[in-house]
Amino acid sequence: MTTFLDYNLSDGLIKSLKYLRFHKPTEIQEKTIPIALKDNDILASAETGSGKTAAYLIPLIQKINSSRNTYGLVLVPTRELAKQVADVGHSLKDYKSKLLITQVVGGASLNNQVSQLKKSPQIIIGTPGRINDLLLRKSLSLKNFNFLVLDEADRMLDMGFEDQVEKILKYMPNKRQTLLFSATIPERISKLSKKYLNSPHRIEVKNNNVLKTQIKQKVVTTNQDKKYDDLLNEITERRGSILIFVRTKYLTEKLKKRLKQDTVKSLALHGDLRQNRRNKILEDFRKSKYRILIATDIASRGLDIPHIEHVINYDMPQVPEDYIHRIGRTARAGSVGEAVSFISPRDAKMWKIIEKLLDKTKNPDKKFSEEKIQRKPKENRFKKRRNKSRKYYQRSKN
Ligand code: AMP
Repeated sequence: MTTFLDYNLSDGLIKSLKYLRFHKPTEIQEKTIPIALKDNDILASAETGSGKTAAYLIPLIQKINSSRNTYGLVLVPTRELAKQVADVGHSLKDYKSKLLITQVVGGASLNNQVSQLKKSPQIIIGTPGRINDLLLRKSLSLKNFNFLVLDEADRMLDMGFEDQVEKILKYMPNKRQTLLFSATIPERISKLSKKYLNSPHRIEVKNNNVLKTQIKQKVVTTNQDKKYDDLLNEITERRGSILIFVRTKYLTEKLKKRLKQDTVKSLALHGDLRQNRRNKILEDFRKSKYRILIATDIASRGLDIPHIEHVINYDMPQVPEDYIHRIGRTARAGSVGEAVSFISPRDAKMWKIIEKLLDKTKNPDKKFSEEKIQRKPKENRFKKRRNKSRKYYQRSKN
């Protein structure tokens, strides 16, 4: 059995790992750490829940501890993930260590970040937009940053960060070590890795952690008229924390209000909120001050809140892969959890694709035919919505 002692890690790291009760490396850690310690580039498919954060932070911290010349940049898609990665970084570093870890994310005070950067942190964890802002303002220099992690790279591309990421890479030295982690490795990620990684070792964690854990999946067949009442039933029947996913930012707030009218207290989390508000909401949910969190897919990846017992997909995700990320928010660290999905007639096609994807994840070697959701062109959808609201307006005038 491999243990962390096999990697010749610094005493500080070993102490922290003991304190964290990380007794042995997870599969992704076992595959990543030795290769990363040997300065090789890595292209890894691994998801949140696999222990991937420590898989790249342990070698990074070890390198910093053993040489004065390692500086690491970790690029992540969301502010929440940045905070989570920073928390893992702080828990891994020895409390006596002078290692500085800074977050550089949007929605937070720029001045504060500029003054943190002046202290020359060895690890910067950031979202692409704010990192670019600071590079353009010349408040950040990456010329010494010779260790790069692209975390949740598929998500970064889905969010349209490709240009931003490429711009950031231009500020970094060519001679560097790059680790790319992505839940899946589609063509776009392969291309990116060919362009920016140097003969990377390909690492795959075969068993999808999310599906290996004990997540019971339940389907509620519903329709738009009875969906809300079905939700109330599910909420009252369940004990423990519930994360409810809805399609849009607006719907998070709307559902929160509607639940409040039914004396059900909840929190709403979405990307339009200021960062300190988002942090406070997550903190309140983490500390179980509220039992229910309603969120957009901003919360489908990366969030590690061990006590979430139920995930309710009130609306289906826009992208089938997000289903797996969503349900992975429950049953953390081997505990049990349940995922409930509300399927109305208009969700039927998406649900079929999700079912295929689940099957594919459980049987990675089986061949499946590709099926894609055909979206109507955006203009038509907007037109339809506009006509609908016009009709509503006319009706309310009459
Ligand atoms: P991650 O995939 O990095 O979000 O990690 C998922 C969870 O696994 C977190 O709660 C970590 O604290 C935990 N974890 C990471 N590595 C280990 C380990 N070697 N042993 C036990 N738990 C771990």
